[in-house]
Amino acid sequence: MTSPRKIALVTGASRGIGLAIAKQLAQDGFDIWLNYHSNHGAAQEAQKIIEDMGAHCTLLPFDVADAKAVQEALNPLLAKQTPYALVNNAGIRKDNLLIFMQDKEWTDVLSTVLGGFHNVTKAVLAAMIRAKQGRIVNIASSAAHAPVPGQTNYSAAKAGIVGATRSLAAEVAKRNILVNAVSPGFIETDMLEGLPIDKILPLIPLHRLGRPEEVAHLVSFLCSEKASYITGQAFQVNGGICM
Ligand code: NDP
Repeated sequence: MTSPRKIALVTGASRGIGLAIAKQLAQDGFDIWLNYHSNHGAAQEAQKIIEDMGAHCTLLPFDVADAKAVQEALNPLLAKQTPYALVNNAGIRKDNLLIFMQDKEWTDVLSTVLGGFHNVTKAVLAAMIRAKQGRIVNIASSAAHAPVPGQTNYSAAKAGIVGATRSLAAEVAKRNILVNAVSPGFIETDMLEGLPIDKILPLIPLHRLGRPEEVAHLVSFLCSEKASYITGQAFQVNGGICM
């Protein structure tokens, strides 16, 4: 049965920024395909919140870095329905100075962030092209735009996301698919665990961490009709830490 509501696929949406995006898009009228990795409890709570808002929410546990797992999870759904919006949000960080960085710390971050973008976008893109419409929003980071010692792996992956966003936007514009990146600064989620927040706060002109909802509002706009002439851009939501 075809859903009368548009569908948004959000990766890494059991917690943090991804969950805020999924909730906001549900409020905007989307049904949600909610990907996560392994935290089933958090994903089930997220599903309940979204369904209580009146949207349908399909849980999709898979590792975005695993191309085969991505296809196995998405292909059966894509045979019946096509998401209007894809938000590539799943990401991890494994910080270390490059001199000490283990090969696995480098490859894990690159394969989750960049490999995840590649695997999930490729799985969905053919259907979006056939539908002649779509929005793709890639969650990058301030680390794509400004230096962060200890994050060469993460910065490389996120700068790669910004570059891939521009190139893909140019490839699919004629198919009416708009592709943009959103680069958050320091946003209050589990990902900040272990960071010296007291040392970071004075560096942020707005003197506070961001809330996941403050990122979700921009993603919501980029997935809306109001953003119909915006593609290939990277927007920062960072309290001014990088201007
Ligand atoms: P969290 O650590 O709070 O949540 C991460 C989410 O991604 C979870 O849903 C997790 O699933 C999922 N995930 C992790 N790895 C994979 C994987 N291999 N496959 C599928 N899902 C995965 O992260 P944030 O909400 O903070 O970050 C979201 C995005 O925003 C990331 O891309 C991050 O790099 C970016 N970002 C975050 C900033 C911040 O300050 N928080 C700043 C700049 C960018 P599970 O629950 O199963 O583990």
